[in-house]
Amino acid sequence: MIREARRAGVAADAISAVGSVRRFAPAVGDVTLLGIVPSKRHTHVLAAFARLAPVTAVVSQEASSVTVETARGRITLYVAPPDDAGTAFVWHTGARGHVAHLQRRAERLGLRLAEARLTRDGARIACASEPEFYATLNLPYIAPELRSGDEEITAAEAGTLPRLVSEHHIRGDLHTHSSWSDGRNTIADMVSAARQLGYEYIAITDHSERAWSSRKLAAADVDRQREEIDRVRAAARGIEVLHGIEVDIMLDGSLDFDDETLGRFDIVLASLHDHGGHDGARLTERYLRAIRHPLVNVITHPTNRSPGLSDGYALEFDALWAASVDTGTAVEIDGAPGHLDLDGALARRAVAAGVTLAVDSDSHRVDAMARQMQFGVGTARRGWIEPRHVLNTRAVADVRAFIARKRARAS
Ligand SMILES: [Zn+2]
Ligand SMILES: [Zn+2]
Repeated sequence: MIREARRAGVAADAISAVGSVRRFAPAVGDVTLLGIVPSKRHTHVLAAFARLAPVTAVVSQEASSVTVETARGRITLYVAPPDDAGTAFVWHTGARGHVAHLQRRAERLGLRLAEARLTRDGARIACASEPEFYATLNLPYIAPELRSGDEEITAAEAGTLPRLVSEHHIRGDLHTHSSWSDGRNTIADMVSAARQLGYEYIAITDHSERAWSSRKLAAADVDRQREEIDRVRAAARGIEVLHGIEVDIMLDGSLDFDDETLGRFDIVLASLHDHGGHDGARLTERYLRAIRHPLVNVITHPTNRSPGLSDGYALEFDALWAASVDTGTAVEIDGAPGHLDLDGALARRAVAAGVTLAVDSDSHRVDAMARQMQFGVGTARRGWIEPRHVLNTRAVADVRAFIARKRARAS
């Protein structure tokens, strides 16, 4: 809708997503947008928005908002004048608990926060940006992903907010698929997409032969795939290509490829793709066996949850964290919209236990790579994750050293 609004010239560039979308909440209900436009244009912008092509019905219209129905769901656009932009962004981004905290805080300072405006004795206090708004309440800026109404205000008051990881910290993607398994694009295409994103490295990690996937890489094809990777390496400049594999963890916790085959990959990700069939204790045992395998470097989408559909495995997480730390194995935040796994809360527990995370796109096509990394990073930020917690914020030499250390420990 933002794109359509831009195309139609409706408040071009002034509309952005707020609400749960901006907070990277795993399940998004209704979509809310905020347009920052001068007050005299509010009526015009709301009316023009309601006439955009995807709109099938107008649900309601007020002085500063319009709610419309589209084939893809309900969307509300709010408008606010530039002087109130900071306050309006905070107000419409939520979460409700966060805003309620801020309202009580404003009250203690003799201010009133209501209806996307900050006032003192009825007179508006201008806050053109969010940092300005928080500063007015004597707080440092709090990132949208942290706004839950839990501990972020206390941390802000104490000066202990995390220095959050963001996309510019990501130096490579350690989980991507090519047309050697169920990916849509060639290795060369994936590598060139990664280079355009400014990455220093990318791992191509197709599915092993017994994976629950539509197409997979047979053990007999591993050498041919490596030859192709060597050719791409010779042609690609400024990016390192790691030959990886996303190997399935079998029912007994063994791996789909033998050690001789696995040992020839630069990086090994291990995952479960079957849905349940085992209770949490058995699933935990399968993971533990994989984590203790000297050639396994990353456990991908560990809970196999589906946001909005299933919570995923009831694993014994403390045992997983301990084994990961003990063996030097990373655990993933997978940015594919169907995974977002680990979620923020679990990721936070993992790093508190000392676990190293990998934040990956798990992209199966070039045009999903950037977006899914963005989701992964957003999910990590919800978990208060800092760059130092994330393997792929490090240089490729350090990633290789991380892998080599585990292999050396076992030999
Ligand atoms: Zn997978
Ligand atoms: Zn994958």
